[in-house]
Amino acid sequence: AVTVVWFRDDLRITDHPALDAAVRRGRVLALYVLDEDSADVLPLGTAARWWLDGSLRSLRASLAELGIPLVSRRGPAGEVVPEVLRRTGAGGITWNRRYGGPERAVDAAVKQWCAGHDVEAHSFAAALLHEPWEVRTGTGRPYRVFTPFWKALRARPVRQPLPAPPAGRGAPPALAAAAGDEDPQAWALRADRRRAEDLGASWTTGEAAAWERLDDFLDRVEDYAEGHDRPDRDATSRLSPHLRWGELSPHAVWDATVRHRADQGGSPGLEKFLTELGWREFNWHLLHEHPDLHRRHLRPRFDAFPWRSGEEAAADLSAWREGRTGVPLVDAGMRQLAGTGWMHNRVRMVTASFLVKNLMVDWRAGVGVFHDALVDADAANNAANWQWVAGSGADASPFFRIFNPVTQARRFDPEARYVRRWVPELAAEGIDPHEPGLLGPSAGYPEPLVDLRASRQRALDAWAATA
Ligand code: FAD
Repeated sequence: AVTVVWFRDDLRITDHPALDAAVRRGRVLALYVLDEDSADVLPLGTAARWWLDGSLRSLRASLAELGIPLVSRRGPAGEVVPEVLRRTGAGGITWNRRYGGPERAVDAAVKQWCAGHDVEAHSFAAALLHEPWEVRTGTGRPYRVFTPFWKALRARPVRQPLPAPPAGRGAPPALAAAAGDEDPQAWALRADRRRAEDLGASWTTGEAAAWERLDDFLDRVEDYAEGHDRPDRDATSRLSPHLRWGELSPHAVWDATVRHRADQGGSPGLEKFLTELGWREFNWHLLHEHPDLHRRHLRPRFDAFPWRSGEEAAADLSAWREGRTGVPLVDAGMRQLAGTGWMHNRVRMVTASFLVKNLMVDWRAGVGVFHDALVDADAANNAANWQWVAGSGADASPFFRIFNPVTQARRFDPEARYVRRWVPELAAEGIDPHEPGLLGPSAGYPEPLVDLRASRQRALDAWAATA
């Protein structure tokens, strides 16, 4: 009997424990299920769907080289997976674990079905360096503060990545047809043409491209320590969507990073980069502990915060989303997001803070906008970072620490190269592109939506009133 490997957020063939284990058992059939129907599962955003389209094609090609057919199906996984197992007479199924609440519920239901139908189900650790239940404080609790979490994590050995499996262990192709294989082209994953062209100009999806990006980044990692906070430099790895889709495992990234220049004792850039991978782990562990991270404040005091609502707030949210707030760094970030499906981390913090604090719009609206627009959007890092910026999260920056987008711009985009790149209205000679409100309306660039100082005070007063 064949073993089905259920691919999810792990669209790769190297360091894929579920694939590795299945190949050792015998003949293998690969399965991907686009599940937007199971209870509480968040449908993918526009940019994510585009990425999935490309990544699935690459996966299909890599699996074909191994002689393994890929079955693509759409529907609630709790029904579709058992149906595939039944139709193919599979004796086993393997998958790499997921950590979001709704996904865990689906996986548990499939496992239960398997137990009742004589199908062996095995799950593996692959998406995170360490399982959330393995990293605990001295009293056995999950960490809520990053620094001790990171210390504990950094001290743990990381397992070696696995090689791609040998070719020749695939199930007969006819079995894919029997499993009800669909053509993902019929799923209309690709965004509208203009958006697809923009995303295609910025990214190459798939495992091979992910490895190339990692190699390229490690070659210039020296600049990371100093340059990672500078949106005007290309100093970060841009690996986030590749990690989001599991085209690379964190183990592979970790391993390549610690081995890079190991003979020279590493570098501050390398260590800083590892810490960022630590934040990714921290946020996933948080989601595992708090499945409703995307909607519930970790600090209940925020439940009383008077988020603005109504037409005016909705209009402000639209202006923010479209990059026409009149605050240059905020608009540059939102336009980079719209144009490329990605935004530099420093600018994500500034745009998020502006929405939540200066505009006093609920961070959950921001989560929704980012979820739709980011190629790296995921349930843990999006929500946890928004809560961090708002101040409502674990180990979050306090509410009263309100980013000033002009000061941030002067510090991290000192020559205004980033702002000019994304807001061409501000490229004119003789103006200070970072200063809001310097252009007249004829320049086609809006006046600031709010006065930075007054809106800051408004937020602080509202916060004080919740005490
Ligand atoms: P690098 O600086 O090269 O970092 C390497 C890797 O470390 C990243 O690819 C990512 O996997 C991880 N990482 C870096 N910073 C963070 C962080 N603050 N939190 C968690 N992991 C991190 N990241 C996502 O992957 N998905 C999201 O949906 C997401 N939403 C965000 C929302 C807000 C409001 C903010 C402030 C940040 C968000 N981030 C998110 C975190 C961060 O901005 C991105 O991971 C980073 O910008 C990706 O670029 P990079 O790969 O070049 O990062």
